[in-house]
Formats: sequence, C-alpha cells, structure tokens
Amino acid sequence: MIIKNRCETLELLVLRYLNTRTNLPESELSHYRLLEKGFEGETNFDQLVENLQGDFIGMFDLLFEINNTIFQIDSLIISGENIYLFDVKNFDGDYYVCSDNKWYSITEIEIKNPIHQLNRCETLLKRLLQNIGCNQLISSNVIFINPNFYLYQAPINLPIIFPTQIKRFLQKLDLTLQKSKIKDKQVKLAEKLLAHNLDTSPYIRKPEYTYDQLKKGIYCKECHSFEVYTNSKMVVCKICGFREKIENSVLRNIEEYKVLFPDKKITTSSIQEWCKIIDSVTTVRRIISINHKPVGKFRNTYYIDK
Ligand SMILES: [Zn+2]
Repeated sequence: MIIKNRCETLELLVLRYLNTRTNLPESELSHYRLLEKGFEGETNFDQLVENLQGDFIGMFDLLFEINNTIFQIDSLIISGENIYLFDVKNFDGDYYVCSDNKWYSITEIEIKNPIHQLNRCETLLKRLLQNIGCNQLISSNVIFINPNFYLYQAPINLPIIFPTQIKRFLQKLDLTLQKSKIKDKQVKLAEKLLAHNLDTSPYIRKPEYTYDQLKKGIYCKECHSFEVYTNSKMVVCKICGFREKIENSVLRNIEEYKVLFPDKKITTSSIQEWCKIIDSVTTVRRIISINHKPVGKFRNTYYIDK
C-alpha cells in the first residue's frame, strides 16, 4: 500500500514552465535537465515498488528536518519486519570509483559519492526514528535505475543495486514482504513519519523572471509548441495534431500561472491575457469557475480555489 506519492517539486515545476516560455540560461538549463532526469528515474522506481505484491507501506519523496538539518528520502518501504531505504539515481553513462572512495564520471568530473549521501540519510533517519520511539533496523541501498549506467572498479560490498540487478532484487524483496504482515505498530510508525514530513523545502531555488519576459499563450501538451488553434471545444496543435479539450488546456494554463506568479490575482482578464488565444470572456469565466470561486463584485472580481 502506497500512502505517500511523489509530486514534482515546486522548483522543478517552475523550471519546467519557464523552459517552455523563455530561454533559460545555460546554467539553469543544465540544472533543470538534472532535476527532470532525477524525477523520471524516481518515478520509474516508484512504479516498480507499486507492483510489489507483498504486504508493505510505501512512502515516496519524504522531506524531514531534524536538529536544523533537512534531509530527503526518495523511497521508503516499511514491512512487518524491516525498514527499507532507497536512494534512486538516474545516472547515465560510465563512471568509476577510485581507491580513495571518490567517484568520477568517465570524463573525469568528480561527483558526490552516492554512498556517503546514502549513509548520511540513513543516520538522520535513524535519529528521527529514535525520536519517535522506533529502534527498527534500516536496510539501505542506492538504486541505479538507468539501464545505460555502468560503474568501473566497484567494490563488491557496496550497498548498490545495479540496473541489471533491480528485477532480481525486487523479486527477492517481494518474497520477504509476502512472509510478514503489517501490524498496528507499523501503521502508527508510518503515520508519525507522515506527520513529520515537510510539504515544501525551505530552500527553494528559483531563478529570476518577470511576467513580461514570458511567452503567453496555450501550448500543446504533447510537443510543447505554441502553434495551436482553437475551435469551440478543442485546442488543436498545428505541429503534431494533438487535440485537448479547451477546458483542460485553460485549466492547465491557470495552474502554471499560479505556480509562476503565486502573488498575482486570478481574474478573467489576467487569464485571458495569459492564455492569449481564447477570445470569449464568457468561455474564460466559465472555465475558471470549474474549480475556482469568485471573490468581490463586478470589475473587482477575482478567483480563489474552490
Ligand atoms: Zn503538438
């Protein structure tokens, strides 16, 4: 049973939307690509965990604070017997480990040692568990999810699951999970952990941007092209032919507007300008009203979440 799913972080969403509506500087672009790739790897692993048949409580993407230290957990499985901690890496290409435990990509760029990161995470989780009255042992592993990953000179005893080992590892884990049952004690532990989970990181890194810098309009959900036209019911992409219900397109655009400009008010005119291609004010108002309610009257009306 999965009780905590993964969502994109605010930072990833902002960068994703900015990447479509403006040209990100090279440094932001490479950071954005790393975040997108990490998220893809993590969701791929989530799906594998969701398919497990045994009895377990699964929690994805947790963020905790202990003694002023923030730490994040990619994936946590609580079984009747054990706690499994996973850090998921979507590294692509060849890497090697040196005898001094430093990790490098094949192009000689040193990267953070994933085992050190895992150990730090395990230590902090142990401390958090002790604080909430749990002394359960933790089994921790780094999952390298990308089939194109290869690590030269890897010592045999590292807590690493390589891409070609994931299937076997999860089959074995599933057999273990099927042998034990989740009891009240584990449910209570999961509830306590959820209560400690932070919704958003206090350290959100956001690039500078203004409303005027961004391209307005609705873009195709499939190919991200702004070359779209509307008929009475659909937004249609001129490039790939993808068709989306006009309501869904506008609501998607409103969500982007809210993420990018949380301080701006939702009004029919602001959304009409943001969507650019919807000529009818009545249509804009009708679609905003699907999941927003009006505040104020006449010309000063703005909308908040229902
Ligand atoms: Zn398209």
